[in-house]
Amino acid sequence: MLSRLATSTLSRLALTVPRTPLSRSLISLSVRTSSTLPPSSHRNLSSASAAPHYHDFPEPIGFEVVSPRPVESSNAFPSILITGDEELIAKGSFAEAQKAFIDPDPQAVSSLSEGMEAANVGIVAHFYMDVELQSVLQAVPNQKRVKISDSLVMGDAAVSMCRDGASAICVLGVDFMSESVKAIMTKNGYGHIPVYRADERKIGCSLAESAENLSYGAWLTKASQEKDTNPLHVIYINTSLETKALSTNIVPTVTCTSSNVLQTMLQSSLQIPELSIWYGPDTCMGYNLQTMFEKVLKHWSDEEIKQKLHQEHDRKSIQKLLNNLHVYPSGNCVVHHMFGKECVETVQSQYPDAFVSAHLEVPGEMFEIAMEASLDDKGVVGSTSDILNFITKKVEEAAVEIQKTGQQVGGEKKNLQFILGTEAGMVTSIVSNVKRVLASNPAAKDFVTCEIIFPVASDAVMVDSESEFGISPGVSGGEGCSTAGGCATCPFMKMNELDKVVDICQAIADGKSESLTGLHPPKRLEGKFINGRPAVEVGVDSILHMRHLMSEGKFSEDLVKEVVERSAANAN
Ligand code: SF4
Repeated sequence: MLSRLATSTLSRLALTVPRTPLSRSLISLSVRTSSTLPPSSHRNLSSASAAPHYHDFPEPIGFEVVSPRPVESSNAFPSILITGDEELIAKGSFAEAQKAFIDPDPQAVSSLSEGMEAANVGIVAHFYMDVELQSVLQAVPNQKRVKISDSLVMGDAAVSMCRDGASAICVLGVDFMSESVKAIMTKNGYGHIPVYRADERKIGCSLAESAENLSYGAWLTKASQEKDTNPLHVIYINTSLETKALSTNIVPTVTCTSSNVLQTMLQSSLQIPELSIWYGPDTCMGYNLQTMFEKVLKHWSDEEIKQKLHQEHDRKSIQKLLNNLHVYPSGNCVVHHMFGKECVETVQSQYPDAFVSAHLEVPGEMFEIAMEASLDDKGVVGSTSDILNFITKKVEEAAVEIQKTGQQVGGEKKNLQFILGTEAGMVTSIVSNVKRVLASNPAAKDFVTCEIIFPVASDAVMVDSESEFGISPGVSGGEGCSTAGGCATCPFMKMNELDKVVDICQAIADGKSESLTGLHPPKRLEGKFINGRPAVEVGVDSILHMRHLMSEGKFSEDLVKEVVERSAANAN
């Protein structure tokens, strides 16, 4: 049954719940005071230097009927309209800036593909790369050597490229991604193949860093001192290998992604007796999951839970899971935190018929309206892949409907609007999928358009030469910044630049790989040990537990034993 828990379980779950307002009280997003417990005394990471502490580590329906008039829509937020003729119409300077790079520069494509060929390089990139970079990557002829995906898939894609003979892998993302890709390659016997990042500077992540402070260690120490339950730390993948290793040393830890976090919680609570789950560091995602479980309990019978969620769960087991689910209260992503109240009010007043998407990381207000929309199949909550798949599916449904009804010239047109409740870089993959769907349904091309709406200020483009990242998030402006004070584009992801990737390929092809040492993933754990084991291995353990779940549909017996035995040892 667990295999049926596809990535969109959250939204499927919502589809059958009677439409009722969500309980706002369940989505308290105010950041609560961190634990004041002292840092863990269980930590035992040895190296030549003094034992480190956390702070030591740096750094459908929903169609808008518009015919016979031309397609129109609200201008409250910038948007990109994709027509059946594959034309892109941008509204607002933010969208213009995105559109400008969706059609890749042929010269840039040939420079990159020739460089990749000469250097025998494979590239794995996150969906949040900037539009220019993603568009060029999508146009590289040898797509076996390119993968744009969410973080879960990046490591597997790199291993496939290594099997296919790639001599080096370039990871376009943030540092915890290159670190994880390297670790997974090593685990699969490809540790000798070099991995490169696309910037010499540290490519950070506000969410990952929120798990690198004393309060996170203190929170986990509190978990380890649980007397009545067996604690398991479920850590979001957006954290460093170091955090994963140090956490594992305090409490048994499994990694999860937004695609499999629900499955992780449901399955672990079945396999591990008297389990308590300690979820971090993404506070919004944790609270959103608590809300989901509350909704299940409010609306579903035992039978519905078995049919729609998990055949081995019922109301009693979900209640127990919820009672023992702890969420770290102080971890936030600077990007997803932008989708606050003001943004939601505009969506509701200006785009009543739009489909609404929200990444699991976004604050409760946006999550709430996307969740509510999903009750009528007019929205989705989930991972980046879930959002991409939902939009693609909705355009496909509309195109197929038009094909069936055989619309005539002058007939009714449909403009499908989608509020993009995640990082704006997703638009490249969305445009690519929508164009593909419309091209393969020729009868639909005159009748279906798709509009991607960015919930940011319409004229929000401002380059800030004083800023380290060249942009300035905040109320006063910045590329894609909202009046709520956040930014729709991740400043860390945008540190990855096309020119740098071409330079890397050139250096490798010229036999000058030694000049690229500053581009290797972080090696902060190298030469360090935790309880006699290499710290890198300890950090990878939590990822391997996740991979076991994904391949077998359940956690290993070794993990179950470890959780129970360590809990018993701590209690004595
Ligand atoms: S969008 Fe940027 S800051 Fe937010 S979790 Fe991803 S990498 Fe980190």
